[in-house]
Amino acid sequence: MKVFGSSGVRGLANDTLTPEYVLRIAAAASSEWDDDWGAAVARDTRTTGRMLADAAAAGLASTGLDVHRLGVVPTPAAQAYAERAGIPALVITASHNPPEYNGVKLIGADGIELGRPAIKRVEDRLAKETVKRAPWATVGATQRIEDVRQQYVSEVRAATDRSAVEAAELTVAVDPGHGAGSATSPQLFRELGCEVVTVNAQEDGHFPGRNPEPVGGNLRDLRQLVRAADADLGVAHDGDADRAVFADERGEGIEGDAALAALAAGVLDHGETVVSAVNVSQRLVDVADDVGATVELTPIGSTNIITRVRELQAAGEEVPIAGEGNGGILFPAHRLARDGLYTATKFLELVATNPASEVVAPFDAYENVRLDLAYRDDRERDRMLGAAERHAREADAELTTMDGYRLDYGDGWVLVRASGTEPLVRVYAEARSGDRATQLANEVRTAIEAAQADA
Ligand code: MG
Repeated sequence: MKVFGSSGVRGLANDTLTPEYVLRIAAAASSEWDDDWGAAVARDTRTTGRMLADAAAAGLASTGLDVHRLGVVPTPAAQAYAERAGIPALVITASHNPPEYNGVKLIGADGIELGRPAIKRVEDRLAKETVKRAPWATVGATQRIEDVRQQYVSEVRAATDRSAVEAAELTVAVDPGHGAGSATSPQLFRELGCEVVTVNAQEDGHFPGRNPEPVGGNLRDLRQLVRAADADLGVAHDGDADRAVFADERGEGIEGDAALAALAAGVLDHGETVVSAVNVSQRLVDVADDVGATVELTPIGSTNIITRVRELQAAGEEVPIAGEGNGGILFPAHRLARDGLYTATKFLELVATNPASEVVAPFDAYENVRLDLAYRDDRERDRMLGAAERHAREADAELTTMDGYRLDYGDGWVLVRASGTEPLVRVYAEARSGDRATQLANEVRTAIEAAQADA
C-alpha cells in the first residue's frame, strides 16, 4: 500500500486526512523508531494543523516516545531541530497546497526526510496494523520546545556572508503568504542589517491575502510591495517555507529556473554534480556545461532528488546544489533539505553585489510554458498518456522516459506527465522563444485532445 507520495502524505483535512488517520501514521512511524529517542512534532499555519499535530502527538506517545512539541515552524527549522536533538520529527504540512489540505512529512534523526526504504516500512506497518503500544507506565511525556525559530534563524545567519549583505544596505520585501515563515524570514533579514517590509506576514490558516503556492498571480502583492518600497529584492515562500521565489528590484517576478541557475553558477565547480528533476531547465544545463559539471536527473519531487543526492554523496561525488525550478532548492553541504530562508540568504548574497535583475540576466534566454489538462477518471488519463507516448515515439527528438515523456529537440524541449497530487496531465515546454515553447506544448496538447475526442 503506497501512502506516501513524492512529498509525504497529502489530503483534504477531515476528509481523506482525518485525525484518526494521522494518529495511525504517527504510531506506525514511531513503532519503527527507538523509544529511547523521543520525536518532534511541528506544523505549518493551517487551521487544521493543531488538531492533526495533537493526533500525531497522541500516536507517538502511545508507542512510548516522548514528544517534543515545536509548534508552528518552517519545515527546515523542524529538520534542523531533529538533527540537533538527534530525534526524528513529524511535520504536519501541505506545503503549497490550498488551505483545505494538510499532510504529514517524516524526518529522520539526521534531519533529512526519510528515504523510500524507511517510508516503505512505515507503510507496511500501516497496512498490517502492526504498531507497538506502550504499557500505561511508559507512554511518552510531552514537552513544549520554545526556541526552535530563534535557533533556526541563528543557524542560517551563521551560514550567511553577513558583512557583504550588511554593507549593501538592502531593502527586502517579504511575502511569507501567512505561512510558517511569517516570523523567521523577516527576522533574519533584519538581523542581517536589511530594511524589511512585509505583506501577508501574519500567520493565518485562512490565508486571507493569498494561497500558499508562490506562483503567478499569488505574487501580485509582493511585486507591488517591491515597487512601493523601492526594495532591492522580493522574497516569497510557500506554506511551510521550504521554498523561496523572488521578484527583482523592478518588481518583476524572477523565473524559478533562472534563480536556480544563478545560485548554481555561484557554487558549482568543475567535476561536481548538480541534481535536478526531469523537467530541468536548459538554463541549469548551460551552467553545468560552462563549468564542466554534471547534471543528474530524477523523477519530479523532493524525495527523489534527496535520494539521488545521498547515492551520489555515498559514491564520493560533490553535490553543492540540487533542486527544482519551483524554488525548492537544497545546498547539501549545509543540510540535505529544501530551505526557503537559506535559499533566500544565498540569493541575497548575490544581490549584495549586483541588482537582482542583473543576477539573473545571464539566465533569461529561455521562455517556459506549462499546460494543465484535466481528466475525469483513470481511463481518460491512460488514454491521454497513451496519446502522449505515441506522439513521443514518433517525434524527431531525443526521448527520456524517466518520469512521463520528455522530448529534447535541440532548440527546446517538452515534457508530459501525470501530476502526482491532482487529476491533471501536465505539459511543460521550454525554448529560446515563447512561440517555439508554445508550439512544442501545443503539439502534445493536440495529440492528447484528439485521443480524448475519439473516446
Ligand atoms: Mg513546501
